[in-house]
Amino acid sequence: MRVSTFAASTATRLPRAFPAPDTAALPDSLALLAARYGSGAPAVLEQLRRTHDCSAPIRLAGERVTVDRETGEILARYGSDQEPSGYALLPCGNRRASRCPACSKLYRGDAFALIRAGLAGDEAKGVPAELAGHPRVFVTFTAPSFGPVHGRVVRAGRVLPCRARRDHPVCSHGLPTWCALRHAENDPALGQPLCPECFDYEAAVLWNAHVPALWRRTITYLPRILAAELGVSRTALRETARISFAKVAEFQSRGLVHLHAIFRIDGPDQGSAAPPWATSELLADVVAQAVARTSLRIEGPAGAEMELRWGVQFDVRAIQPGTEGEWSEARVAAYVAKYATKAAESAGGPDRRLRSPYEIERLAVTDHARRLITTCWTLGGLAQYEHLRLRAWAHMLGFRGHFLTKGRRYSVTFGALRTARVRYRTNLAMIARGLNGGDEYDEASTLVIGHFAFAGVGMGFMSELAAAGGPGGLAP
Ligand SMILES: [Zn+2]
Ligand SMILES: [Zn+2]
Ligand SMILES: [Zn+2]
Repeated sequence: MRVSTFAASTATRLPRAFPAPDTAALPDSLALLAARYGSGAPAVLEQLRRTHDCSAPIRLAGERVTVDRETGEILARYGSDQEPSGYALLPCGNRRASRCPACSKLYRGDAFALIRAGLAGDEAKGVPAELAGHPRVFVTFTAPSFGPVHGRVVRAGRVLPCRARRDHPVCSHGLPTWCALRHAENDPALGQPLCPECFDYEAAVLWNAHVPALWRRTITYLPRILAAELGVSRTALRETARISFAKVAEFQSRGLVHLHAIFRIDGPDQGSAAPPWATSELLADVVAQAVARTSLRIEGPAGAEMELRWGVQFDVRAIQPGTEGEWSEARVAAYVAKYATKAAESAGGPDRRLRSPYEIERLAVTDHARRLITTCWTLGGLAQYEHLRLRAWAHMLGFRGHFLTKGRRYSVTFGALRTARVRYRTNLAMIARGLNGGDEYDEASTLVIGHFAFAGVGMGFMSELAAAGGPGGLAP
């Protein structure tokens, strides 16, 4: 069977010329597009709407044809040349709210679905509902102190003074090490050091850079400690139980990473019940022991040995099944999903990679953030830290871990969620054109040949469009 005749064209096509409509009668978004695409504007708007209002859609050029295997007849065709915009558009998929609000919202929804499925089960996605009966704990791994910073202290609903000290002490640099202010929630002083000279910037960024290593070590200890608690060998433990997890990283305003993690005791096989001895109390105790045991020895900048550990403010709570309370499944999943769309922005860091000290100098960030970034840059030039790639991760204040990770057994994957959505959208696009979705044809007798080439990012008018109400601003 000859398929070469249907080879896709990847040539970048310019939009066709359309007659100009009467823009005076159009809503702002449409008028903006009409100036560029003429009567093709509604189709372009519809196309942008299908990227769920992505602020920088990925442009693709090419086509997809469905061919009859027997006769070679083209049964359906979708090509980017049919679009008045000249391209097929895909959402950018950026996780960060500061880069693409629409895609990050979608990512947050996925993160919620993924975490929730691991807590309460999701029969539709093949995650058994019995999971809700497994012992689960929600744990916060904190960073140690690298010097006093301004903080908001809330106890029993009351905001307390930041650092109350009657004797009003000062540090060796002559600055107060106390602060009587009751900081507001959005006070820019929060997380800023009382004395920058007293704050150990080098240790702070090295700690951030070693969070993934600390995490790996903690995870390795869990089955060992659990086996010891039960008085069985690790092989015997594997035959009765497994510990699964999901975790998310959060930047504190002081520029240090915290991890929020969910741990769960499962049976030995995917979907099997937790053993009868498994309780949240036992799980909490095992995690607490692993945290206390976790330590990493590294070479300090001056050559002396440095020890890295988790902070002492370690927090662990049992997740209650099917309740509405603070530690309910839904609340914990929402909490985790919230952090999944943020990066170092919450610590005042930039949202993209940095290329030079010159660029760092000109960043609109706090002095504290700039100093953390500069420290990454400086330490990144030292041979002993080459493997940490501190310059490449200076915008993340040294942290190069993933924002949301989970063990293989925890729940469905992001990939599975995305595939379901892409399939839905592709079909939607096909149906909209009367071209028929893939399901219409028998897979055994037809062949789908598709080739789309990357043609660029963004449409060049997205900010004006957003100002005019955006593609979603119009009634469907
Ligand atoms: Zn996007
Ligand atoms: Zn303060
Ligand atoms: Zn000082």
